[in-house]
Amino acid sequence: MKFISTRNASLSVSGSEAILTGISPDGGLFVPESFPEVSMDRIRAMADMTYAERASYVMGLYLDEFTKEELSEIASRAYSRFEDEDACPLTKVDDGLYVLELWHGPTFAFKDVALTVLPELISACRKKRGEKDKTLVLVATSGDTGKAALEGFKDVEGTEIMVFYPDEGVSDMQKMQMITTGGNNTYVAGIRGNFDDAQTAVKTIFTDKKVAEELKEKGFVMSSANSINWGRLLPQITYYFSSYADMLSSGDIKEGEKINFCVPTGNFGDILAGYYAFRMGLPVNKLICASNINNVLTDFFNSGEYDASREFHKTISPSMDILISSNLERLVFEMTGRNSDQLASLMKDLKETGKYQVELSVIRRNFGVFTAGYADEEETMDAMANTFDEYGYVVDPHTAVAVSVYDNYLMITGDETPTVILSTASPYKFAQDVYEALDESRVEDPFKAVKKLHSLSGMEIPEGIEKLETAEIRFTDVLDKTKIKEKVMERVSRQ
Ligand SMILES: *Cc1c(COP(=O)(O)O)cnc(C)c1O
Repeated sequence: MKFISTRNASLSVSGSEAILTGISPDGGLFVPESFPEVSMDRIRAMADMTYAERASYVMGLYLDEFTKEELSEIASRAYSRFEDEDACPLTKVDDGLYVLELWHGPTFAFKDVALTVLPELISACRKKRGEKDKTLVLVATSGDTGKAALEGFKDVEGTEIMVFYPDEGVSDMQKMQMITTGGNNTYVAGIRGNFDDAQTAVKTIFTDKKVAEELKEKGFVMSSANSINWGRLLPQITYYFSSYADMLSSGDIKEGEKINFCVPTGNFGDILAGYYAFRMGLPVNKLICASNINNVLTDFFNSGEYDASREFHKTISPSMDILISSNLERLVFEMTGRNSDQLASLMKDLKETGKYQVELSVIRRNFGVFTAGYADEEETMDAMANTFDEYGYVVDPHTAVAVSVYDNYLMITGDETPTVILSTASPYKFAQDVYEALDESRVEDPFKAVKKLHSLSGMEIPEGIEKLETAEIRFTDVLDKTKIKEKVMERVSRQ
């Protein structure tokens, strides 16, 4: 399988090259040249596999440079770091309503599903390609990617990792997780600005040829752990198939029956993996794109206009506080009929005017699998309270956005298709807000809130969260976004 750039379809690279470089030199994103078909028999067969086996099967469809044994080893090592052999368990909360818990990994957010795999893939690709230079992984994070990437790459030979987060745009717990990270190859800094500022600055460094040359002299090549990297998206495709296989095996659905997925969305990586699963043959009725009040995606699906020039809101679901959803580029590439010239011109519009327009008729006609909605802060708080009251089940604010959007969707459409809500973080990562939603009182100290939430819900506190309270703070830098490049050069000159 080859991978092409969304902005230059004549550029074609291998899977290992796509993963090692992260982003195409023309600024485009790598996409598979086609979508392999997965038959219902294969999906049925997944029901009897472990999660790691399912992952290794799905990855094998795209990474033909790897042997079955290699991929199976990569997947087992990655998913052995999860709480349970069933890395992404499906919980039935009501008739026809399921929650796919994607947060049982080392840092308690769905990013772990891919970021436990990516470092393994990068190491294996380095070996395959005889890469002598070290890999410098640069990450812009809205909160959860940072810690998951740090844990994934910490002390991985031949790599250095640098993480930049918006100083005032992440939860206390997310920040604590990042700035207490160990490892000799790790660096973390806050950036004055929001996530889009951090992401744009990092992306600029990526496509700066001069920076690449300077790094090369120091013996480094850059890669990305953001969801623009194909190696991030790929492992995410698995859990869509996995939840379907689980529902088949419990007898909740019949072979071929369509289901809905409702996905709390920010950078459009999670839900895009669902779209790829759909293109590979998974029976999907609707992919419901759920946003918070940074609802640029809701407007896009309803009007065809993507307009990022609007007020940025800080919300209680910070990992979704994004106005430039990078991965949407991959979907829009499909919307143009895989016309890279047209796509490049739309992305130029975005850069120059903050917006672009896709024909609404095209979206309606060929991309009707998508529907979109958003929840404001009050609706998000209500969804946390209601889910607890009705089902005794606690969701974090990101998942609550999806719950609220789904409730609304159900009310409007009456669509009773079985629905899977993707749950993207442990409620303990956002304990103050969750506790406030459930108990209507606010506890400012995150660790006190954790304990209160535990007494109220009985939900087990992850050890990694408890330990943070006394962990040593290792990183205190807060930088202007113009200083990122300097920091990068300083870091690679250190050895
Ligand atoms: C990253 C993240 C999201 C959004 O996922 P995207 O792939 O960026 O759309 C939602 N919830 C949580 C908790 C996250 O960490």
